[in-house]
Amino acid sequence: MLKKGSGFNSAGNSLKANIIPAAKGHRVLSVSQLWRSRISWKITLSVFLTLLVVQTCILIVTVPNFEKKYLQDIRENGRVSFSAAVDAKVTSLSLKMPIDKRTSRNLVVNTKIAGFTVYSLDNDLLGSYGEAPLMQLNKSTFNNKSEVLSHDKKHYEIIYSSLELGYPFIIVAHLNSSDLQNTTLAYVKENLLIFFLLSGFVTSVLLIVLGQWLLEPIILLRNNLIEAAKHPEEPNITYPKRNNNDEVGVALKIANDLIKQNSMNLLQLRSQAEDRIHKLAYFDRLTSLPNRSMFLEKLEDNIRGHVMKDGGTLVVMSIDLDRFKDVNDTLGHEVGDKVLEAVASRFVHSMSDEDAIISRASADEFNIIVSVGDKYKQDTLTNKIFTALEEPISVYQESFQIGVSIGVSHCPDDGVEASKLLKNSDIALNRAKEEGRNTARYYSEDFDKVVQKRFQMLRDLRTGLEEDQFIMYYQPQFNLRTGELIGSEALLRWFRPDNSKNGGQFISPVDFIPIAEQSGLIVPLGEWVLRTACKANQSWHAQGLNPGRIAVNISGVQFHRSDLNTIVENVLNETGLDPKNLELEVTESIFMDDMEKTINTLNQLHAQGIELAIDDFGTGYSSLSYLRQFPIDRLKVDQSFVRNALSNSDDMAITKTIINLGHSLGLSVIAEGVETFEHENFLKHEGCDEVQGFRYSKAIPENEFLQFIRTYAGDLLPPQKLFEVK
Ligand code: C2E
Ligand code: CA
Ligand code: CA
Repeated sequence: MLKKGSGFNSAGNSLKANIIPAAKGHRVLSVSQLWRSRISWKITLSVFLTLLVVQTCILIVTVPNFEKKYLQDIRENGRVSFSAAVDAKVTSLSLKMPIDKRTSRNLVVNTKIAGFTVYSLDNDLLGSYGEAPLMQLNKSTFNNKSEVLSHDKKHYEIIYSSLELGYPFIIVAHLNSSDLQNTTLAYVKENLLIFFLLSGFVTSVLLIVLGQWLLEPIILLRNNLIEAAKHPEEPNITYPKRNNNDEVGVALKIANDLIKQNSMNLLQLRSQAEDRIHKLAYFDRLTSLPNRSMFLEKLEDNIRGHVMKDGGTLVVMSIDLDRFKDVNDTLGHEVGDKVLEAVASRFVHSMSDEDAIISRASADEFNIIVSVGDKYKQDTLTNKIFTALEEPISVYQESFQIGVSIGVSHCPDDGVEASKLLKNSDIALNRAKEEGRNTARYYSEDFDKVVQKRFQMLRDLRTGLEEDQFIMYYQPQFNLRTGELIGSEALLRWFRPDNSKNGGQFISPVDFIPIAEQSGLIVPLGEWVLRTACKANQSWHAQGLNPGRIAVNISGVQFHRSDLNTIVENVLNETGLDPKNLELEVTESIFMDDMEKTINTLNQLHAQGIELAIDDFGTGYSSLSYLRQFPIDRLKVDQSFVRNALSNSDDMAITKTIINLGHSLGLSVIAEGVETFEHENFLKHEGCDEVQGFRYSKAIPENEFLQFIRTYAGDLLPPQKLFEVK
């Protein structure tokens, strides 16, 4: 959610700063990071092992050569030693041993020669010394092998030819090769160590090179991708030390660019969404004016600043468009919206000289705060509003004259809290509406008392309903020509208990019905009325009396807010009243809301056999078109017209028109509020069908009404000669 007090623009700007990801230092991977990466382990191990295996193979191949070389060496050393030991003066012909004993012992002690046998060129044995060689030369066998190595490789026997020795002798020598194995092993070990070190070195060099050009960029890429997945909006990405232009370097660069781009897009989207949410949360979509939340915040700011700090005054206005609902309902929301837009722009224009904040609070309600100095004329501001709407508003070539009611409160006089100021300007607005539209009212503490009284009344009404404080009264209705009783209107009475000596007092329905309507309490209350009236009428019929039908008032709220059809059906079933004995009186207000539903409800009621009358006809919206569309039986001329018909020519004309209109549509016409003979005479003259009024009877309780019908002889309206109406 947005922080309280964050201005509209500041929210947008602060976001933009975040869009560019903060430049990150060129952090590189440490060697240990490189080592820890799995891929480096794999590469290292495989390179190292491969090198080792290759080198071992080479070693295996070189070991026989090494051995061969060793044997060659001791053979050569033997040859040199023998050549030096032979006495050059002795010839093979002399068949004498050419190496004397001392020299022979020296040879055996100091060289690898362990023993030897000397032959003449004819293979004659001349002598031997030390360990005798196994190979022997004799005349009959030709020995073609010149050397033999024992199985355990410890003994090496060689035949040195006279050519090799450079003397006319053949020597078969037994050489000691017992250290051949150890020397070979040492050779192998030494080589293995060298190979191991070499492999390690080569691997390390390779890893450093690969690390730089391949591993590091790949690990960077992986780390950056993980980071981008974790924090797509603000990824903390790392850049390579050098920008390589090889394949991996380019891939890394592209990936980093994409991550950056993605983060920028996301941040931008978020900032747009936040801007939008901010707009939706604080601005009215239709008029683009601040909404109630924004208005309250601004009001609080102004109270703190302009009033508390600077000692100024605030004027808070609540403005309601008069009868705007009619425009909406009859011409549609599109027209309604256009009118509202135009009104909003007129308000903005009218306040252009003032330090004002204008907001749309709800459908047709606006609020304005104006900061003023301590001297100002109250009426100036409200007059500006009235003047702004003096010119009709044109929408789709139609012009609309819009009236407004204005409630005004002042800060600090009427409060120093935003909610209280607004509540008080709303109270003043309600008062303005009640006192006739197109007016402005300034909040006064007395208004509060009225509101408090209403709340008290609502609480009392609830108790009244729970504690059966309501009673039905009945007022008879007559056929104007015959004087016959045709029915009665059920009128609700409330005896509210109090501490007075009467134990309570009757409260007029004029006072409590509007409150019951506003609170919705009229729904259960109206159902109670219907049930009680139907039950009473049915019982009168059951007693064999002739009470006629019962007329029950149905309030507009009750009509729209409850399932009237079902309720009526249930009540008729419960009480057993014949539907033709029930008449419902509805007012023209029901035609203002949801026409289709109204037609349906009325048709269904009428189909049950119930009669329908329009009460207070002529005072409301009076659209004649609906009269044809709806199944109506009776028009009821409002008592105010009847009462004034003889003193006010307009009221007389209206009464006459209603009677004629009703008749032309085939409807009966009943007049209420007939108080005098003159009224009766006039109505009779105009051909009105039925009457109801104090001239015959007030609304009376059930027992009195029973008494009345039992005794009534049809003589209250004797057929009289008509007097001339002046
Ligand atoms: P309404 O439906 O127009 O009822 C007629 C009112 O005129 C009644 O006032 C009645 O007592 C009064 N009246 C009848 N004849 C005369 C007369 O000759 N002279 C004068 N001056 N007045 C006469 P009441 O009973 O005070 O009711 C006032 C309004 O309260 C009713 O006007 C009706 O709108 C409402 N109301 C009364 N009872 C109910 C109810 O049960 N349900 C609903 N929804 N509204 C009711
Ligand atoms: Ca009525
Ligand atoms: Ca009436």
